[in-house]
Order: sequence, then C-alpha cells, then structure tokens
Amino acid sequence: MKIMVLSILRLSHRISRDKRITTHLALTSRAFGASNFFYTGDNDSNLEISSEYVTKEWGGSFTISFVESPTNFIKEWKREEGIVVHLTMYGIELSNQLEVLKGRIDSNILVVVGGSKVPGYVFQLADYNIAIGHQPHSEVAALAVFLDNLTNSKARKQKYSNAKTEIIPTEKGKKTKNMQDGSD
Ligand code: SAM
Repeated sequence: MKIMVLSILRLSHRISRDKRITTHLALTSRAFGASNFFYTGDNDSNLEISSEYVTKEWGGSFTISFVESPTNFIKEWKREEGIVVHLTMYGIELSNQLEVLKGRIDSNILVVVGGSKVPGYVFQLADYNIAIGHQPHSEVAALAVFLDNLTNSKARKQKYSNAKTEIIPTEKGKKTKNMQDGSD
C-alpha cells in the first residue's frame, strides 16, 4: 500500500503572538501523520528547536523548515505535481470532498493553514479549498480533524521505531517506558 506523504504549510507566523499556536500546529501535524512542517512569516529558531526536541524524544522523522515566499513555495509544489489543500471555513465541506482527496493518495499533499489574514492568492492557487464546518474556529482544530479523516484515524495510532520514550497507557496516572534501556 502506498504511504501518503503529508506536508503542512503554516502562513504568517508571528513570534510575538503565535508562539504557542504554531508550536501546537507543528505538534499536531507530527502526531496526526504529517512528515514535514513549513512555515512563513517570522523565522523562529525557538519554534524549530522545540519541534526537533519533541521528535528526538518521541520518535519519527518529522522536519520543520522556514519558507521565505509562500507564493513561490506553493507554485513550486504544484510544478512538481504535488497537490495543495487549503483549509478555510469558506471552502467546500470536508465530507463532500473526502473521497476525492483519498483518491489522490499517490500525490504529495501540502495542507495550508492560515494565520491572521489569508491573502486571496492562496484561495486561487489551492487545488482544494476545504472547510471543516462553516464556522470560524482554530487552525489547530481544522488541521487535526482534516488529517484524522484523511488518514482514517490510523496515523495518530502509529508507533515510532526510533522513540526514546513511549507511553504505557494506563487508566489513571502517567506511565512511560525508556526505549533505550527498557526502564519504566
Ligand atoms: N480571519 C482569517 C482569514 O482571513 O481567513 C482566518 C483566521 S483563522 C483563526 C486561522 C485559520 O484557521 C484559517 O486560515 C484556516 O486555515 C483555519 N480555520 C478556521 N476555521 C476553519 C474552518 N471552519 N474550516 C477550515 N479551516 C478553518
């Protein structure tokens, strides 16, 4: 079975206001099956360090990179035959497009999420403008719902072979296992 390669593009990151939400977007991307996270706006080394730390500790091969020009980046993505899905409350409801998107599993999918103000060209360049319901909510919520639907909830249950720490699920309390020496 072909493995879907999912990448995320977060627009207009502002160090002063978006530190937590962009971090949450990167965490959500990784935990719900994306391999690469790109962001535009302010170049933020702390954001990259904290995301890389999480991947070292909890495994996987997730990457994070700054992108200077979102327009060039999206155009280049399309030139290389990738497809672009923009999440926006103004788009077509996910449930009406999900099967079409699942049918494009062979493509590299770039999922674009907005920031404070999404420029009009993003709507025009996107192959699909997809709404997770038509109410305003959050880029983190939109991304999680989108990725979970697209991956049939499988990605968030995957195990990472190179994790330093894994969780041992318990009904109450917190249990982890150190994967390097096997200790709890
Ligand atoms: N006011 C901004 C604009 O100009 O579009 C949107 C701000 S919203 C908090 C930030 C991002 O969350 C959006 O760009 C979109 O990616 C995502 N988002 C929020 N609600 C959504 C919805 N109902 N469906 C899909 N995406 C949504």
